[in-house]
Amino acid sequence: TLSRAATYTDRNGAAHPLPDREADARVRADDRGHVFHSWSAQAVIDPLPIAAGDGSTFWDYQGNAFLDFSSQLVNLNLGHQHPDLVDAIQRQAGRLATIQPSMANDVRGELARRIAEVAPDGMDRVFFTNGGADANENAVRMARLVTGRRKVLSMYRSYHGNTSTAIALTGDPRRWPNEPADGSVAKFFGPYPYRSAFHSATPEEETQRALEHLEQTIVLEGASTIAAIVIETIVGTNGVLVPPPGYLAGVRDLCDRFGIVYIADEVMVGFGRVGEWFAFQAFDVVPDLITFAKGVNSGYVPLGGVVISDRIAAHFDTMAFPGGLTYSGHPLACAAGVATFEVFERDGILARVRDLGARVVEPRLRELAVRHPSVGDVRGMGLFWAIELVRDRESREPLVPFNASGADAAPVAAVAAACKRDGVWPFTHFNRVHVAPPLVISEDELLRGLDVIDRALSHADEHT
Ligand code: PLP
Repeated sequence: TLSRAATYTDRNGAAHPLPDREADARVRADDRGHVFHSWSAQAVIDPLPIAAGDGSTFWDYQGNAFLDFSSQLVNLNLGHQHPDLVDAIQRQAGRLATIQPSMANDVRGELARRIAEVAPDGMDRVFFTNGGADANENAVRMARLVTGRRKVLSMYRSYHGNTSTAIALTGDPRRWPNEPADGSVAKFFGPYPYRSAFHSATPEEETQRALEHLEQTIVLEGASTIAAIVIETIVGTNGVLVPPPGYLAGVRDLCDRFGIVYIADEVMVGFGRVGEWFAFQAFDVVPDLITFAKGVNSGYVPLGGVVISDRIAAHFDTMAFPGGLTYSGHPLACAAGVATFEVFERDGILARVRDLGARVVEPRLRELAVRHPSVGDVRGMGLFWAIELVRDRESREPLVPFNASGADAAPVAAVAAACKRDGVWPFTHFNRVHVAPPLVISEDELLRGLDVIDRALSHADEHT
């Protein structure tokens, strides 16, 4: 017996069969029996089996279609099954599926060169990793070796990955079960105009006070002990916090004054998410190290890395860099990365993201914010936005508490469930709904998804 919708239709209009209901049951049984899942209590999870994807849509085994409004984990920048990426991986697999990192390889070299070409002048080398966490891990190691200092500063509201140093850098609750962790990490408050830690009234005041606070943190932690400051250019999972004008330039100044390495974590926002190759390029700053992953090849094959300033790279001309990974610069991953550059350039992806963000998403979200009493703030850039939900607009009390789970999280879970019933897969986190669709999403799909979110917000309004 075939499922309700027996086929799905891809971007070329071709129909493909979907597996039957028994396949659905088999996938669920294998998963429940044998897959140990991330971040979850194993007894309560019930992951949806996914049969196929194309562009901005994916299908479950029952034939239900979902518009992917979170680009999986904000990595699927070119959408599902992009033919150029799939083809590049297939061709590379047919030619040379793998080769170890100490041997030179054409796609690895080409990808490194193309990344250096879009990075700021004076950042010409790339160290490849398997993902974002190990990119941050290695960036911090470089900073420590270059400065001879050990301490690293990062924001309370941040996520930098789940290896030992990366989870210590992380400010959000995901670090708690791993503590006590790397003791040489200190946290500071970043700017967050809607919920200012500094009681600022304007974005300008927020910039000034957040920078004073960072400077005091540096002084009190001991400038001569601090190797690096690690900052997500736009804080991602912790709220799509766009830095107010002048903040990142102020961080750059502080790093220069105190001899600290500025590491820009671009894992989520790099490679087009906000309409720039790297998000810091919209803020006119140049870091010393850039970490990237996700969008570099839409996660078709795991890949991350560190872009290194010439000054830091020169330190390792004569001193060995004590780090490496078996799969560093994996040819299948790099082939998908080179294809990503070709698609971005041919299809004008960066300009498209800036246009869709400013012309379609921003006005629609601002309009919806006026009508829904539960919407306290909307913010973002390009195709990276958050809707922050509150119980009361005056007091700004969050609709669900920070770090909510279970019954506490129910009002936002109801919004997510309503979106899914209407065929949109959103990303929700605490009191926020994020909008981060693939950068190739059509304008019609984008508007349809925003309509669904608009309707779903009535479930949040009930709790105001
Ligand atoms: N840094 C940021 C800003 C991220 O959003 C993430 C993942 O979501 C990471 C680092 C970790 O990347 P990965 O999961 O590839 O290790």
